[in-house]
Amino acid sequence: MSCTAFRTALSARVDGEALPPEVPDGALDAHLRRCPECRHWGERARELRELAARLDETGREGA
Ligand SMILES: [Zn+2]
Repeated sequence: MSCTAFRTALSARVDGEALPPEVPDGALDAHLRRCPECRHWGERARELRELAARLDETGREGA
């Protein structure tokens, strides 16, 4: 399976959504253990999501 499929699943996990049926949790974790690029991608995705959440809160406070 390509990294693209795992990144789609990782994105869903970061967003708190269900993983695609073709990429179960165990398969994603196994891939992350042996693919530093996807680990890095996942960290970036999480950072961006936290940043977006903070900006969203700031926007609500200002309103
Ligand atoms: Zn990968």
